[in-house]
Amino acid sequence: MEAGAAGGGSCAAGAEEPVVSLAEVLAENEELEKEARAVLGGSDHERCSYSQGAVKRQALYACSTCTPPGEEPAGICLACSYECHGTHKLFELYTKRNFHCDCGNSKFKNLQCKLFPEKGRVNSGNKYNDNFFGLYCVCKRPYPDPEDEIPDEMIQCIVCEDWFHGRHLGIVPPDSGDFHEMVCQACMSRCSFLWVYTARLAVPTVTKVALVEDTGTVLKVEEIEQKKEIKKENEAENQGKTKDEDQVAQNNEPSTSSGSVCPETAKNNESACKLQELQAKQYLKQDTATFWPHNLRSKLCTCKECMKMYSELDVQFLTDEGDTVLAYENKGTSDQEADRRDPLMDTLSSMNRVQQVELICEYNDLKSELTDYLRRFADDGTVVKREDIQQFFEEFQSRKRRRTDGIQYYCS
Ligand SMILES: [Zn+2]
Ligand SMILES: [Zn+2]
Ligand SMILES: [Zn+2]
Ligand SMILES: [Zn+2]
Ligand SMILES: [Zn+2]
Ligand SMILES: [Zn+2]
Repeated sequence: MEAGAAGGGSCAAGAEEPVVSLAEVLAENEELEKEARAVLGGSDHERCSYSQGAVKRQALYACSTCTPPGEEPAGICLACSYECHGTHKLFELYTKRNFHCDCGNSKFKNLQCKLFPEKGRVNSGNKYNDNFFGLYCVCKRPYPDPEDEIPDEMIQCIVCEDWFHGRHLGIVPPDSGDFHEMVCQACMSRCSFLWVYTARLAVPTVTKVALVEDTGTVLKVEEIEQKKEIKKENEAENQGKTKDEDQVAQNNEPSTSSGSVCPETAKNNESACKLQELQAKQYLKQDTATFWPHNLRSKLCTCKECMKMYSELDVQFLTDEGDTVLAYENKGTSDQEADRRDPLMDTLSSMNRVQQVELICEYNDLKSELTDYLRRFADDGTVVKREDIQQFFEEFQSRKRRRTDGIQYYCS
């Protein structure tokens, strides 16, 4: 822990620096735990999640000791990873949706779950893929991959929840800060209704010519330009009124067998189906992954016919903003904040500036005095005992009392 610039402790009321620096010290510690908390925070680490049914989203693990490649894939919850597979070789699967913990069910030959042994034989609703054997992406490689020297970010597809190398998506991904959700090539082809939304909604991709791959799926620069124009055109149309309903674009084909389900009758009620409205306009359909802003879920049509199509494609979660990894992480973070808030941070935020400065001065004094005190033990080569620490705090308290009898807002 670094105390920043506030050494010595000669801080006066109103001085900005020390306030910021203590907050930063605490925030830095927070930061270190934050990522782990984001993934694990929303999951129960003591009780097997099985009793909760298909958990909307949870941290999941696969055990290659219990279910090695060649066996049937199985996923276990966070609590089971600690309690039942503590010494086993585990693959971290990050988070997955709608999953029942498999720990100890018929997929496990030699293991009984210690936390919730009375599970059904199998969980028929669970979805498995090669991730459960530690393999990711279309290239089916482990992560981290000891044989892969190309630095590349893995991105999770929000539909199939597999992870993909940025370079194996058929197109160069936008900067990671520019999009929130990604749908992989295979899922775009299966859920091709999403192409209808791309012109309006998707984060544009920029082709770097040097990175064009031999798949032939990367857009040419002219196509990109074209795509941008289409986007502009659509924006303009949205502001005015859609007049040329009959002007059918070259790419205006029904996007899936079920993509055409939005009824003809929607013409009578123009705002009924957003998908059908968009289908009347131009859009490009390619063989690439797509990248979306955070509001994708709220922009998809939820008319009866579209909902039916989502259900047929098994992608109902696409209209659920609570399904996103972001929503899960936020829940995990806020749950834990409520659980175990830092008492010092809490105190600090409830104080006025003068009180803050006093507390910070005290903290700095305490830190430097404690360091000095402990150094004496180190220099003498003696072990610090509990009583020594107690004594230190008693002395510190009495020194502090003496100080606060004097000028209130300054500390020496
Ligand atoms: Zn479990
Ligand atoms: Zn195991
Ligand atoms: Zn278990
Ligand atoms: Zn790959
Ligand atoms: Zn996918
Ligand atoms: Zn619709």
